Amino acid sequence: MDKQTAIKRMETLYQQLHTYNYQYYVLDQPTIEDAEYDSLIRELEVLEKTYPDLAKKDSPTQKVGAYLKTDLSSITHFHQMMSLGDVFNEEELRDFDEKIKKVVEQYTYVVELKIDGIASTVHYTDGLFTLGATRGNGLVGENITTNLLMVESLPKILTEPVTLEVRGEVYMKKSVLDHLNEVRLQENLPLFANCRNAAGGSLRQLDANITKERKLDQFAYTLVHPEQYGIHTQIEALAYLQRLGFSVNPYHVHCQDMEEVIQTIAQFDTLRKTLDYATDGIVIKVNEFDLYDTIGYTVKVPKWAIAYKFPAEIVTTRLQDIIFTVGRTGKIIPNAVLDPVYIAGTMVARATLNNEDFIVSRDIRVGDYVRVRKAGEIIPEVIDVDLSRRQAGLQPFEMLKYCPKCGSLIEKSKTDALHFCKNPECGGRILEGIIHFASRAAMDIEGLGDKQIEQLYALGYINDIADIYTLHTYEQELLALDRFGKKKVENLLNAIEDSKKNSLDQLIFGLGIRFVGAKASKALAKYYHTIDELQQATKEELLALYDFGEVMAQSIIDYFQDEKHLALIERLKLYGVNPISQTVEIRSIFSGKTFVLTGTLPTMTRDEAAKMIEDNGGKTSSSVSKKTSYVLAGEAAGSKLTKAKELGVAIITEEEFKEMLK
Ligand code: NAD
Repeated sequence: MDKQTAIKRMETLYQQLHTYNYQYYVLDQPTIEDAEYDSLIRELEVLEKTYPDLAKKDSPTQKVGAYLKTDLSSITHFHQMMSLGDVFNEEELRDFDEKIKKVVEQYTYVVELKIDGIASTVHYTDGLFTLGATRGNGLVGENITTNLLMVESLPKILTEPVTLEVRGEVYMKKSVLDHLNEVRLQENLPLFANCRNAAGGSLRQLDANITKERKLDQFAYTLVHPEQYGIHTQIEALAYLQRLGFSVNPYHVHCQDMEEVIQTIAQFDTLRKTLDYATDGIVIKVNEFDLYDTIGYTVKVPKWAIAYKFPAEIVTTRLQDIIFTVGRTGKIIPNAVLDPVYIAGTMVARATLNNEDFIVSRDIRVGDYVRVRKAGEIIPEVIDVDLSRRQAGLQPFEMLKYCPKCGSLIEKSKTDALHFCKNPECGGRILEGIIHFASRAAMDIEGLGDKQIEQLYALGYINDIADIYTLHTYEQELLALDRFGKKKVENLLNAIEDSKKNSLDQLIFGLGIRFVGAKASKALAKYYHTIDELQQATKEELLALYDFGEVMAQSIIDYFQDEKHLALIERLKLYGVNPISQTVEIRSIFSGKTFVLTGTLPTMTRDEAAKMIEDNGGKTSSSVSKKTSYVLAGEAAGSKLTKAKELGVAIITEEEFKEMLK
């Protein structure tokens, strides 16, 4: 991002975060999800690192985010109350560990649940509760002494007459919140969105009786100046707090290293769903107090502890733009460009918008706030729009008319909602085709990924898939490129050479014939031993293959009728890419026989039977014709059985089929 854009974006972020902090900390009424807030903070942190001269001193990244509620009296903390840094995935956790390893040698961790409530500090003199405050801005908090007296699980008299300061989390149980919201619903009062807001709103009341009615609880987790009590580790501190009468969360584990921490996190993630209080993460702390000063602090957080935030599965973010990519088949795919957000532990800035109908039916507009999730945990997709956050003046979506790569008129498919660039010479399509050919699932050419192919295509060294096999003629030119060192070039050229030994099904899949996926390619390579044989296949033959329908068969025929494709295949063969299918039919008792399966078989599924037929050299087909050798019929066989009878095709039962196999 250039500096001018960064200035604008940072200003927006400062303003937005200021508003969100106010809504969250003062009003206890956030208007955005925590995950969205966390992503905005991350974005600002990155911008401030890139442009330190633009960073504000009072940036929310540098300050414990809280504003004091003016009608409560304030208290200056004796010891600063810090926040916690956060991480969103295992990799970041390991980075945190690595940083500690750089400064101290021997250390262990304590893993605790991160209770989603309000941080508070409480003072005791000779074992008697005297004072309590919120964290506030970390230096000054609100005096909530009277309110804390109403929190039942917070001891007012300790079991020993000690003078100390203890920190913990005041929270509201989920069951209490449910009940409270039921009552508020009946009384027509606004509902609390979650346990944290309810706890905040209930604790910071001028009338402590309201706090009492709200039935809050507290977990203690920090003993201030533990050395004064002969306590040297967090594990000891938690046990000591419990002895004194504090409520200490039972789920804390002493871990020897980061691997154990990661295992514990997985267990806690399951456990937390069963609890009657909300948790928004896990806190990982170095156990040994004498290491804390060596490991150190930033202005806002300690470096010896971190909060691991549970990954959000669905996150709302702003749709900056809709851009279009061209697939290898010419499919025009609309993609969302998003304000980056963490979803399920990874940063997401792009998501699919599927097709025109999808966008129009949800009325998704550039500038909208959209909900995004990871489909099947891999490709992020936009789900819908948060219309309550729509700003005025956003334009309804309009589908592109011309291909973004070659400028040809885009055509809408008659059968589905998809749009296509039909220009076979389209650079976008060709590029995607080459990327597909070299990809792991196809010819698996290591070192030839998207970026390299884009670069080589732009330079004109590769113009189609066959050109990959002439790349060695550019060896000197490759060595001069940024991305390619001597070793890399050598490895790449070797990988290209090795790919000539790939199987026929890899090549068929790599050609990118429309509708022919990896599975169909495997099936084809079983019946046709070379690409030449496949080229000669008739539509009837293809239709007789198990699971091959009209559309796929026609697509294969069309592909091999195109002169350009034939020329491409000739060149591939010339360069030594002409695999022979290795399928050795160990048994061929069904060789030349075609089966049709119908009805429910007594002991095996139709797929299992089909596999047995194929393994024994036979073919399966989905329709009965005169060419059908056998109809394998089970329970409730329908029209196929009738047709077999009409045509006089042999009908066999599963038992007879098994006999034949013997
Ligand atoms: P934090 O809540 O992420 O982490 C620090 C806090 O964790 C501590 O102050 C303490 O109160 C709490 N905690 C719970 N269990 C603990 C344990 N076992 N040990 C130690 N501490 C424990 O940090 P924060 O500064 O209080 O709040 C920032 C977070 O609040 C943001 O990351 C965001 O998720 C949320 N927030 C949301 C909005 C919004 O509009 N949605 C606005 C502001 C902040």
